[in-house]
Amino acid sequence: MLDLTGIPVIDNHCHPVLLNQQMDALQFRSNFTEATDASFPEKHVRTNIYYTWFLRQTAKFYGCSAREEEILAVRNSMDADVLLESLLGASHIDTLILDTGYPLSDQCYTPERMGELGHCQAAKLLRLETLVQQLVLAHDDFDDLLERYSTGLSNIRERGYCAFKSIVAYRTGLNVERWGKDEAARSFAEAHTMAIRSGRLRIAHKPLLDYLLHIAFRKAAEQQLPVQFHTGYGDSDTDMRLGNPLHLRDVLEQPEYRSMPVVLLHESYPYCQLGAYLAAIYPHVYFDLSYTIPFVDKLEMLAFTRQALGVAPVSKLMFSTDGINVPEMHWVGAMRGRNIIGQVLNEMIAADEIDEGEAYSAAQAILLFTARDVYQLKAP
Ligand SMILES: [Zn+2]
Repeated sequence: MLDLTGIPVIDNHCHPVLLNQQMDALQFRSNFTEATDASFPEKHVRTNIYYTWFLRQTAKFYGCSAREEEILAVRNSMDADVLLESLLGASHIDTLILDTGYPLSDQCYTPERMGELGHCQAAKLLRLETLVQQLVLAHDDFDDLLERYSTGLSNIRERGYCAFKSIVAYRTGLNVERWGKDEAARSFAEAHTMAIRSGRLRIAHKPLLDYLLHIAFRKAAEQQLPVQFHTGYGDSDTDMRLGNPLHLRDVLEQPEYRSMPVVLLHESYPYCQLGAYLAAIYPHVYFDLSYTIPFVDKLEMLAFTRQALGVAPVSKLMFSTDGINVPEMHWVGAMRGRNIIGQVLNEMIAADEIDEGEAYSAAQAILLFTARDVYQLKAP
């Protein structure tokens, strides 16, 4: 049997955790659903197979019973720093790659502090739509915005970021199209007027967003910088029909973007085979295997891991948790990722598809080495 517990992980996509870790049951449960309706934390999360499993794991960690109220009492009695240090420390993490675009940074631990408490490296992702929203609010002239945007996307590694991330699947869909500058400028004028009127902006103006994304892709290609795309499963804010990674075809076909590694997040769930297929066909496409979010059970995680390993070359797969808000998610995802990848590789050994040495190297590549290459990270 393969034992992967000794392999440190690069969590290639996760989020900061909240500074305030004191939570009642409803607050805690609301972290474990992508549904926005209050009936989920009140009624349904408690019966989700994922959550039941999660409670049993954390109970073992805290040395208490698996009753939710007991687990909450234990974690609420702990200082947040101690909570983070014990969970992240037990996860054996090489590097956390953090999307600082969500949750809001004034409510969260900084990447630097998470690295200190986790005794690991911390790297950052620049979320493109967040930058676009800030610039649309701050500028009334489109050319000024373009200049500032272009500067904001330059020298990105010197500014501590190792990749861009796009949540366009949450806004106007992965079918990012080509628009003329005039169309983009009209779309900007609409967005800006709306933003000034309401004092805030949720950017969902397709010509503007697509136009600015193409600029970001050129900037990424120039810097050999990876771009992560949210694909598949998300809350109801995403139109899942347009979260299918096959919609990225026009972007993936662009020869000028070949030096921009594309990372399809969240195993494109439930479009897992399609995402793995893209990684098998396009040299610059990588497929992220995420083991905390989406909140699916072990059998489903085994299924997508089998599909990924069965379809795409091992060198195209990378591990993540997508952990957010509470540090238990980062911990449990690291443990479960190693466990599930190990189980699938064991099945492949038994099926005479791979030998034990190859299987261990495959696990090292998925958990650690491929992400180090793709994001150009240093060994700690
Ligand atoms: Zn995420």
